[in-house]
Amino acid sequence: MNERLAAPVQYLKGVGPARAEALAGAGVRSVEDLLLYAPRRYVDRRRCLPISDLKEGEQATVLAEVAAAGVARGKRQRFVAKFTDGSGLLEGVWFRGVGYVKGALKSGDLVALSGKVGSYRGTLQMVHPEFEVLGSAEESGEASELLDEAVHTGGLIPIYPLTAELRGVGLASRGLRRIIRGALDALREEEGPLPDDLPEPIRERRELMARDRALEEIHFPSDPQSAEQARRRLAYEEFFLMELLLAERSRSVQRRPGRAFSTWGPLVRSYLEGLGFRLTGAQQRALAEVFEDMARPHPMNRLLQGDVGSGKTVVAASALLTAVENRTQAALMAPTEILAEQHASRLRSEFGRLDVEVVFLASRLSTAQRRRALDRLDSGEPVVAVGTHALIQEDVDFSALGAVVVDEQHRFGVLQRGALQAKGADPDVLVMTATPIPRTLAMTLYGDLETTIIDEMPPGRQPVRTHRIPLNRRQRVVERVSEVLEEGRQAYWVYPLVEESEKSDLRAATESYEQLASGSLKDHRLGLLHGRMPSEEKDRVMDAFRSGEVELLISTTVIEVGVDVPNASLILIEHAERFGLSQLHQLRGRVGRGGGEASCVLLAPEDAGEEGERRLEAMLETTDGFKIAEADLQIRGPGEFFGTRQSGLPDLRIASLVADQALLAHARSDAFEAMGVSGGEGPKVDRETVQRWKEALERRMGARIALGDIA
Ligand code: ADP
Ligand code: MG
Repeated sequence: MNERLAAPVQYLKGVGPARAEALAGAGVRSVEDLLLYAPRRYVDRRRCLPISDLKEGEQATVLAEVAAAGVARGKRQRFVAKFTDGSGLLEGVWFRGVGYVKGALKSGDLVALSGKVGSYRGTLQMVHPEFEVLGSAEESGEASELLDEAVHTGGLIPIYPLTAELRGVGLASRGLRRIIRGALDALREEEGPLPDDLPEPIRERRELMARDRALEEIHFPSDPQSAEQARRRLAYEEFFLMELLLAERSRSVQRRPGRAFSTWGPLVRSYLEGLGFRLTGAQQRALAEVFEDMARPHPMNRLLQGDVGSGKTVVAASALLTAVENRTQAALMAPTEILAEQHASRLRSEFGRLDVEVVFLASRLSTAQRRRALDRLDSGEPVVAVGTHALIQEDVDFSALGAVVVDEQHRFGVLQRGALQAKGADPDVLVMTATPIPRTLAMTLYGDLETTIIDEMPPGRQPVRTHRIPLNRRQRVVERVSEVLEEGRQAYWVYPLVEESEKSDLRAATESYEQLASGSLKDHRLGLLHGRMPSEEKDRVMDAFRSGEVELLISTTVIEVGVDVPNASLILIEHAERFGLSQLHQLRGRVGRGGGEASCVLLAPEDAGEEGERRLEAMLETTDGFKIAEADLQIRGPGEFFGTRQSGLPDLRIASLVADQALLAHARSDAFEAMGVSGGEGPKVDRETVQRWKEALERRMGARIALGDIA
């Protein structure tokens, strides 16, 4: 059966080379891909009305054939389509998107359309109705026949995610359904019901439908509940396979030999004592977990999560020192030069008295500087390397890399993390995130790591008070800035820098700097910082701000990540609606780091657009990073959450990281338990089952995910 599922779709009845190509464009290559090509939604035919029953002023869905369609000229250009279903006539009218509708609706098409019923000159009409083409006369026979069939196939009509390519080869919803029907029937005829890879106990515990039935119900549902149950079952399966892979990765790291470090040594103790503050309970717990990992004769593979300002750096520094104390090298990789530079200077000042050497590596170093740095790393001396991705260049050799900290800030992908790891023989790895990430994403992207959460802020921190002020009330804001500076505190004024309007944004920041410096704030020292400045100048401005010499820093988003100036108590964010939510949260985390009152002012237009409004609202509502992260995920969806598409998230076909959170948690715990990961004792299911899972994984994700060696 598995070979049949893995076979290319092209050899199915009704699919030739052209259709196979269009299907491949939609990600459907194998027969199994086709069976898992799930409808986006369903039109409930039982809630469709015959045209003769439509009432003006009501919302309705109708199934009808396009009798005629075309662009009508008049005062305003518009597209008009006439629909019939044997009971009456309905007109659809479009004033906008005429070109699109013209391409999508053809005479003879069978369409489901929904909208508000109105009338015009005695004819029933819908203006800008939503519509889905279910099938076309060109594709086969008469639309009236299609209509008949649709009506008789039961209550729900599946609506597939269609591409123009698919439509072009006659694979609108109905065409797709026909080849799926054929594929299912052929498979069953030859080999009986489709096999289920999930063992009975798991299916029972999670109340999951059998696979054979799920594949039937998702395409040919008997009612809305079964359709949802089918989707749920297939979504679980998708999560389960993904988590299986993560469980396996995690287990293989756990079993690999690594160095057993001795922890809590004199260096670490002396460092902690010299900090001038006591660790919070959460920091102590985190440190204990990290050290427990480091003491084990296997590599550490841990994610350290904590809100902005929760004090992750102390934990990271202790891990670095532990490696050094055990006569190995340590590396800390940061996503930007500013941040790497900041880490380096902070560690230099803290490690200096401990006589621990910090080596800085970034692309801006001169050849000679770089040479010297590389020599230090290759020397075998127990040094700490701090840098950007310059650390993972090919010619960088560590002679004895014992521990790696990746300050991930959501920006390094899994690959880069792996590249640094590969510089040593299974070093201990600690990944930190700058802002919390939602649980589902953590379980996916970092699912092979153990997790530590710092859920407590250092004492004395007050939540940053957040206000929203319209852009045209800037004068009031300037007064507030001047008050803060008078008090001897410092402030940030941040400008957006989006690529499309880079020049004008840069100008806005520069102009604002000049205006303030010569106007209302002329008695204060102002600094300007943006990404276009040479590195040395950036450093100079940053240093001046850190030392308090510059009181107000006007900057584009380069300060976003990690910048730590405890005396800063006010941050103004210009055009806050243009920033992403986690970015806003990061920015807000720049103030109030030294205790005391701090505030954040979001300058935004009165109407910030739908998404903009939701983001601003979330910022005003909470300062809890985990809640912010959840809101961000809801607003943007998983693909955009990290700001880059190549974030390493798997492309799930049926399951949703937003809507199916509970299901993922179950699938994860089932997969990890089945593989016996946490106990380390190995799979708790029989070999054949594991073998079948492995095959299913290869079949479905083989091309997308490099497969670990499953026992
Ligand atoms: P983040 O988790 O955002 O990386 P940092 O490690 O940079 O946070 O810490 C933020 C600030 O809080 C730093 O100035 C740091 O010195 C200070 N800090 C960290 N831990 C404590 C603590 N237990 N008590 C007081 N201040 C602390
Ligand atoms: Mg940090």
